[in-house]
Amino acid sequence: MPATLSDLDAWLRRYAATIHDQVAYLTELDAAVGDADHGTNMDRGMQKVVGVLDSESFEAADALFKKVGMTLVSAVGGASGPLYGTFFLRVGTGIGTVSEVDAETLGAGLRAGVEGVLARGKAELGDKTMYDAWAPALEAYDGAEGDIGDRLTAAADAAAQARDDTAGLVARKGRASYLGERSAGHVDPGAASTVMLLEAARDTLS
Ligand code: ADP
Ligand code: MG
Ligand code: MG
Repeated sequence: MPATLSDLDAWLRRYAATIHDQVAYLTELDAAVGDADHGTNMDRGMQKVVGVLDSESFEAADALFKKVGMTLVSAVGGASGPLYGTFFLRVGTGIGTVSEVDAETLGAGLRAGVEGVLARGKAELGDKTMYDAWAPALEAYDGAEGDIGDRLTAAADAAAQARDDTAGLVARKGRASYLGERSAGHVDPGAASTVMLLEAARDTLS
């Protein structure tokens, strides 16, 4: 079954709720390698997104995701605002002016979103950023058989493994790179919030 606009709304709300529950965890991860604000940054942004969802209605997926992206860019400072903001803006462009999203279209949207993250942040695989979770997630999504739910399950599982593997990496982008070798031994906060986004998708879209 394709995902409807109301499923996409549920995805964003579920993500906001998860981030809200996990502020302390994300902050703790960022305290180890950065400036201890990833939880509060993402929570501020996603609560603004919930406010938008409560007050506006959207006729198509691209309009919805573009508004989400613009909201995050304007509400969140730091690296994650522009990166997640660009992600959602490009997801909107990649999905297009549709009111139902099938597995292939969602895959194209996610891929476009990640390309936006790369264009903005210039990360490469192994730099210990959110891209290290996204790259294997996209590969698993495309490689999985079946409907949106099956593909998102594969993507979320791959991202979770990759998130854990970021602990072995030395950061080469973002604040964590200031720590050099001392960044190793800690999970990347943005990889952790990326897994939450995919798990929220898995749990709401099918
Ligand atoms: P800041 O580092 O400005 O305080 P956050 O703490 O909210 O911002 O977000 C940090 C996360 O942003 C990192 O854990 C990492 O995943 C991600 N990040 C930082 N720089 C980049 C980049 N150039 N490309 C991709 N992701 C990045
Ligand atoms: Mg930070
Ligand atoms: Mg910061």
